Amino acid sequence: MWRLCYTAVFLRQMKIIMKYVLRTAWLLGWLLLATGQSAQAENRLLSLGTGGVTGVYYPAGGAICRLVNLTRQQHGIRCAVESTRGSVANLERVRSGELDLGIAESYWLFHAYHGSERFQPAGSDTKLRTLLTLYPEYFTLLARSDSAIRSFDDLRGKRVSIGKPGSGQRATLETLLRKKGWRLADFSEALELEPAEQASALCDGRIDVMIYTVGHPSGATKEATRECGSRLVEVADDDVAAVVEQNPYYRWVSIPGGLYDGNPQDTRTFGMSAVFFASSELPEPAAYAIVKAVFEQFDRFRRLHPAFARLEPGHMVKGPYAAPLHPGAERYFRESGLLN
Ligand code: GLU
Repeated sequence: MWRLCYTAVFLRQMKIIMKYVLRTAWLLGWLLLATGQSAQAENRLLSLGTGGVTGVYYPAGGAICRLVNLTRQQHGIRCAVESTRGSVANLERVRSGELDLGIAESYWLFHAYHGSERFQPAGSDTKLRTLLTLYPEYFTLLARSDSAIRSFDDLRGKRVSIGKPGSGQRATLETLLRKKGWRLADFSEALELEPAEQASALCDGRIDVMIYTVGHPSGATKEATRECGSRLVEVADDDVAAVVEQNPYYRWVSIPGGLYDGNPQDTRTFGMSAVFFASSELPEPAAYAIVKAVFEQFDRFRRLHPAFARLEPGHMVKGPYAAPLHPGAERYFRESGLLN
């Protein structure tokens, strides 16, 4: 009988204990949720505009975001990449506030900042700020192996992929065409292909030439040379020389021979730098944390893409800047001794 009593008392005690356990768990749950929510409120999501997935902007942006996200505990920033049409689109979308960060060709960053060239109608965007300089980009012409194209002038009457509006290559091609006094109608066909579509279009015989302003080695160039033996074409005539000489952000470059299948010779062309940029609206501590994440994990960064293999931090922080340096980036460069 009193065994039954004991069991009843035991059960009641258990019930009381369980009630406390459950109440504590419930309270703890709320506490965790509440702290989680406040941590989330501090976590700012920054979007980084890149380019097509077979270019180098996209993996470069991915590498930067990865390093930023790895150190999130220190600064609370979350970084996400977005595939875009390229330089011009990134500059426009950072201006409109749609993107926080972007990568652009130095030449177009300069003109967006000053409101010159194709940015004249929009006016100057004096909020643009340089975070760091990435790697060299090359105005790259790739022709089908069975074509007789040996120079830019041989493009007259050919089927050319001119790039989507918003891409750096389309904008640069238009500058070059103006210099030459050509129009798009001088090509037999001018196709506005996405960067990632170009290599297969070239190999399928839908176009004779693809144009891409890109770092090397790049996925698209690898695809076009490996899949169907496409040839890199020199871009170094007198009109190009005049464009290069008039613009401090252009320079002569050579795509090294042997980098791609079937292209053992160096290919001379013109190029510029890829620049990682933001707006002055990006808070100073955020810019500081982002460049710090890259430079304090630099060996890791260099290993994330073959186009970064030869990068030197000293070169990446130096001017001349196409847009002024962001104060947060400058503070880190000076504190770390990268800039005197
Ligand atoms: N330079 C190209 C552009 O501005 C993008 C190159 C890339 O995606 O790597 O559109």
